Amino acid sequence: MFTTTTVGSLPKPDWLAEPEKLWPEWRLKDAELQQGKERSALEWLREQEAAGIDVVGDGEQFRIHFVHGFLEQLEGIDWNRKTRMGIRNNRYEADVPTVTGPLSRTRPVHVADASFMRRQTEHRLKITLPGPMTICDTLADGYYGRRADMAMRFAELLNAEAREIEAAGADVIQFDEPAFNVFLEEVRDWGLPALERAMQGLKATTVVHICYGYGIEANIRWKESLGNQWRQYEQIFPWINQSSVKQVSLEFAGSRVPHEVLRLLPDKELLVGAIEVLPGKLETPEEVAHNILEATQHVEKSRLLPCTNCGMAPLSAELARGKLRALGAGAAMARNRL
Ligand code: ZN
Repeated sequence: MFTTTTVGSLPKPDWLAEPEKLWPEWRLKDAELQQGKERSALEWLREQEAAGIDVVGDGEQFRIHFVHGFLEQLEGIDWNRKTRMGIRNNRYEADVPTVTGPLSRTRPVHVADASFMRRQTEHRLKITLPGPMTICDTLADGYYGRRADMAMRFAELLNAEAREIEAAGADVIQFDEPAFNVFLEEVRDWGLPALERAMQGLKATTVVHICYGYGIEANIRWKESLGNQWRQYEQIFPWINQSSVKQVSLEFAGSRVPHEVLRLLPDKELLVGAIEVLPGKLETPEEVAHNILEATQHVEKSRLLPCTNCGMAPLSAELARGKLRALGAGAAMARNRL
């Protein structure tokens, strides 16, 4: 009961990449960079195991950014042709690469990382990938003409990648779709069909992570503009409940998400955010246990997996370590209370 996991990303140490940044630069090169990524992923793996996290991952130490890490290895994207674009419906602007030709995946992207992690742990292993809709919202289209078409092409490439990650030993494959909370109607029209295509034929446990974003300034401002109750999940969850995804990762702790929305996913397992990702705040195990027990009022405990609200990449390493421990200890406390 209360199998614990995290959304995925964890901070990179300052000897590996610029710290506490969303789009950092690597500080090593070539073979040293690869060794550095492995060393850091291994350190975070041991932290997760020591903290009592059941489903573990690489903390996304192998990729520079949760979307661009995948895109970097594909053909059809011009990284020198940067387009200034409003991301997540103009929540913030970024210079993003541009799709300039047919997209293809000529080599595996995160498969070797998955194999490396599989050799290091007996725990259930989760590998994360960006979802097709969120990818389309994080780069510019200079070729396909319709986002729905570009998303479907990304979905085919993600599916090929996911199948190889599964064969490399991943138990859980998660697709990150923060854009689902922004485009709503389009989730039904093409976001979910593209996600289904990305998951096609997978035997691993599939997850979709839908959140209100990293704890960065632009997201904090956006959240303040959403009013007293955040109703986005209310619109999309009924569609997601009908999809074939096995688990849904959602924001819960400290958010203005009405708790009853958990009831809109009766056929899914829920990764309930019991840890906030704002900088500066460290929960006590007591608070985490409280968040978990609060969620049990709306979802059976057998379907509840305590998790973080979002990735912890932009936080300090010390704070992220504390939050992993609070999550493990808080889940243990909640188990003892029932
Ligand atoms: Zn997130």
